[in-house]
Amino acid sequence: MPELPEVETIVRGLDKVLSGKKISAVKILNKKSFLGERSEILGKKIIAVRRRAKYIIFELERGKYLLIHLKMTGQLIWQSQKIPNNKVVGGHPDEMYRRQDKLPHKYTRVYFEFDDGSRLFFNDLRVFGWIKIVDQGELKTLLSDLGFEPLPYTKNDRKSGELLILGVSNLNSIIQKYPRRRIKDLLQDQKLIAGIGNIYSSEILFCAGVLPGRAAGSLTAREIRKIYQSINRVLSKAVKLGGTSMSDYRKVDGSKGGYLDEAGVYAREGEKCRKCAGKIKRKKIGQRSAYFCPHCQV
Ligand SMILES: [Zn+2]
Repeated sequence: MPELPEVETIVRGLDKVLSGKKISAVKILNKKSFLGERSEILGKKIIAVRRRAKYIIFELERGKYLLIHLKMTGQLIWQSQKIPNNKVVGGHPDEMYRRQDKLPHKYTRVYFEFDDGSRLFFNDLRVFGWIKIVDQGELKTLLSDLGFEPLPYTKNDRKSGELLILGVSNLNSIIQKYPRRRIKDLLQDQKLIAGIGNIYSSEILFCAGVLPGRAAGSLTAREIRKIYQSINRVLSKAVKLGGTSMSDYRKVDGSKGGYLDEAGVYAREGEKCRKCAGKIKRKKIGQRSAYFCPHCQV
């Protein structure tokens, strides 16, 4: 499941290549993956590609939107017609991508053609992801349940004016409201803060020096401030590195990278802490694994 930095990375990539292009064809290969009447978007220009939590939003002309959720195995690949290597790739990394299978392939559910001949493929092995046509009212309703945005504004978010960016006072209120809940659970509660999952909650708390099992009510003002700063620091760094699930794609074009290569604690049980050289531990908190350093986090 892609977390917020992965979605932000693909959104930035798609916004660059798709803004201003017109949708000239929509091919629906699996009906379950596409909700809406395609005639409503044919011939329409894409104004911008942006994001709210892990939803990808294509803003189209005349008040229409394409809302996309990649879920577990969804993947978006944009390909230029003139320069085949000019691509934007994001979402779930899989064998077919590594092998560079010709598109569309058997897991392609929907694809779009644009007026310059370029194409955007929506591949989804397990068919949990979807694309939906909505108008502004429906978009607002669908996104109304989501918590604060933990990442700072990007160009397009500012334009939309719909986002609620998490401030340190918001984090304080959340913690005061749920003093008995564990801080790791609070960070991952999508109705409170949208887009942080298991990887980044462990990373944020390592960065802040706070143990994941701490009750929210036990945190000092200084610790809350450190957690807040760490949310920004860790997520911004992850976006810069192209997130986590992108690391496999990057290896395809020869370059190394991705956030997991530089993770402080996530998936590093038994390995050396990068700060103190002690051993990283793993513990079940709720249903999920938390990774932490028992020396650097209190
Ligand atoms: Zn340590």
